Amino acid sequence: MVLKKAKLAILLVCLFLLLVFPLSASATVWGGGKNGSGYTDYWVSPSVSEYGYSSVFSAAVTRWEGVSSEVVFDKVNTAISTADRYYVGTAAGDVTGRIYPYDSSGNVVGTWQYWTRVHAWLYHNNMYQANFSYTNKVATATHEIGHTLKLAHPQSNLDLNNIMEQGKKNYSTLSWYDKSSLRSKWGN
Ligand SMILES: [Zn+2]
Repeated sequence: MVLKKAKLAILLVCLFLLLVFPLSASATVWGGGKNGSGYTDYWVSPSVSEYGYSSVFSAAVTRWEGVSSEVVFDKVNTAISTADRYYVGTAAGDVTGRIYPYDSSGNVVGTWQYWTRVHAWLYHNNMYQANFSYTNKVATATHEIGHTLKLAHPQSNLDLNNIMEQGKKNYSTLSWYDKSSLRSKWGN
């Protein structure tokens, strides 16, 4: 009887590992390239300091630095066509952040297409409405910058404190899954 229970326990552990390990070994990223690949020039709109989000965005950029040698950020002082752009504004509904990828003609394109640059927006009115703390804001900014690096939402809800999970988050650091997704997209 004891042996039977032990065998059952081992079987259940194996089933659990089979279910979880393929997911953990994979990554959730969008296809397609990006100008400069992981080498990211970015321009910060004056709206960011006007709404008081300068430290929010700089903290978010820092989160993604030092994870992959192929992902390096360089702040530029003019809005050149190939630099990503960070903005803060207002929006209807309850969306707190989103991205818009563009091609070389300035048209919005799909997540899987080649991006000349990408705009990352934070929406102050909705963050204010939802009582966002500084950490909540940095988490959303880090999430949106993750999208600018072609990281998608994790497909399964494994509750591993991934920054790429949707919604209001009380942590703003990257999980091992976030980091492995970045490396699988751009290299180690
Ligand atoms: Zn998202």
